[in-house]
Amino acid sequence: MTSISLPERVRVFVVGAGFAGLGTAIKLDEHGFGDFLVVDKGQSVGGTWRDNTYPGAACDVPSQLYSFSFAPNPDWSRSFSPQPEIQAYLERTAREAGVLDRFRFGVTVEDAAWDEEERVWHIGTDHGEVLADILVTGSGGLSEPKLPDIAGIDSFAGEIFHSARWNHDYDLTGKRVAVIGTGASAIQIVPEVAKQAAHLDVYQRTAPWVMPRGDRPYKAIERFAFRHLPLVQKAYRTGIYWGRECFVPGFTINPRLAVPAKKLALQNIERGISDPELRKAVTPHFQIGCKRILISNDYYPALDSDHVDLVTDGIREITPTGIVTADGTVREVDAIVVATGFYTTEQPIAEHVKGRDGRTLADAWRETGMAAYKGTTIAGFPNLFQIVGPNTGLGHSSMVFIIESQIAYIRSALQQMGERGIATVEPTQQAQDAWNDDVQRRMKRTVWSTGGCASWYIDSHGRNTTLWPRTTFAFRGLLRSFDLDQYVVTRRTATPIPQENVA
Ligand SMILES: Cc1cc2nc3c(=O)[nH]c(=O)nc-3n(C[C@H](O)[C@H](O)[C@H](O)COP(=O)(O)OP(=O)(O)OC[C@H]3O[C@@H](n4cnc5c(N)ncnc54)[C@H](O)[C@@H]3O)c2cc1C
Repeated sequence: MTSISLPERVRVFVVGAGFAGLGTAIKLDEHGFGDFLVVDKGQSVGGTWRDNTYPGAACDVPSQLYSFSFAPNPDWSRSFSPQPEIQAYLERTAREAGVLDRFRFGVTVEDAAWDEEERVWHIGTDHGEVLADILVTGSGGLSEPKLPDIAGIDSFAGEIFHSARWNHDYDLTGKRVAVIGTGASAIQIVPEVAKQAAHLDVYQRTAPWVMPRGDRPYKAIERFAFRHLPLVQKAYRTGIYWGRECFVPGFTINPRLAVPAKKLALQNIERGISDPELRKAVTPHFQIGCKRILISNDYYPALDSDHVDLVTDGIREITPTGIVTADGTVREVDAIVVATGFYTTEQPIAEHVKGRDGRTLADAWRETGMAAYKGTTIAGFPNLFQIVGPNTGLGHSSMVFIIESQIAYIRSALQQMGERGIATVEPTQQAQDAWNDDVQRRMKRTVWSTGGCASWYIDSHGRNTTLWPRTTFAFRGLLRSFDLDQYVVTRRTATPIPQENVA
């Protein structure tokens, strides 16, 4: 193991160097809170965009919006940028912001425990311990690959890998390949693998709704305008933002408002697939929006190819040489690509963060499922801020907008703590419960609850603890400044501050 030196103590410790960790570092630095450390178990910034290098990987929210508001990129080559461009953008943004001196890569956080007496976080890493007043987790909502629980999967003798851990050393050219899953990653992967493989089987459990992808290269004149007339780029971003926000009523108020979207998706099937049986097999049986709406122009044509089969029978087992479906059919393959998603409703970091009384986040959430105040702070866990925490996910717009809203809230907290001599902040249980009751009440009428699908948004308690059931501007407004009156706070002298004195 190479030796990596970590400071003994910092004011703010940040886990993860994706959009969340990087954005936090840049904004803290900009506002004079430079005493921070960001660690990531990977070898560079990027998170999602460092790890998901599969062929066809690209964002599905246009890059003008899927980027930091404070770091516009005039050089996007097209409306939906491919992964290498997004990764290069994040690396460049980090370099230009001058914050990388406080990043340590190849460092895994193994545990973090709150010390109530010293009022400090003890953060254990594989390179030693660091003490911090404030702990920010930006460890990702879609970061830990989830392998399917299929009998015999370990016995497969060919090549097998998860979409987020693509093996670029393995050449799929001329091979018999299986892709398991038809989610957001799979529909980007299938058209690319179909170009190389001799034969491709796509295993579908539930057909997703797939809308056309309005992707195109930017014209030279547009790129010129982005570079020299920043207002033009801002106008693009604003237009995309409001266009996306128009989806919210269809998701959260009345699914009938999504009928035009459904028509487009049905036309996409008709346009892309000629075989009536295959059309039937890819037509979803739940309301559009219930599961994540996907976008692609080439997924259906790829499925329609002669050397590609869509398999809708459930998988019974995997043998050393192939996949056996419930009807007993054996399909031999050389390679299996597992595109079955990530741990979403049980965040891996939750097992490792211990709050007051030594309870982990996982313990706190065992009975009820994930819950936080404003998706960011958690009762029983002083000075902990979680970016992309419970009920902050989006089905329609850019997660970077949510991440920036949370960063602004954290920055406001640090500012107020500094100005008022406050050592610790922790949301009251009452504030947290009221927030979650409101979120779950709103959730009841959303298409995610009523649309007739089983999705990764829903946890084992049957609650949707991943998505935000309102507009993104409502979220931003609610997190605009840190609402100290909803928190139990202690002064640097350890004297609790009465609630009436903190607002
Ligand atoms: C293939 C794919 C495509 C996507 N496309 C879009 C899109 O188009 N639009 C959109 O809005 N969202 C998209 N998302 C969601 C995306 O995850 C978020 O937009 C965003 O990248 C999340 O950033 P993050 O920093 O919160 O997490 P991540 O980017 O996941 O970064 C988390 C980081 O934390 C590190 N980490 C985790 N645990 C530890 C630990 N214990 N110790 C040290 N480091 C740790 C990880 O190594 C990782 O680098 C996509 C996700 C995937 C997987």
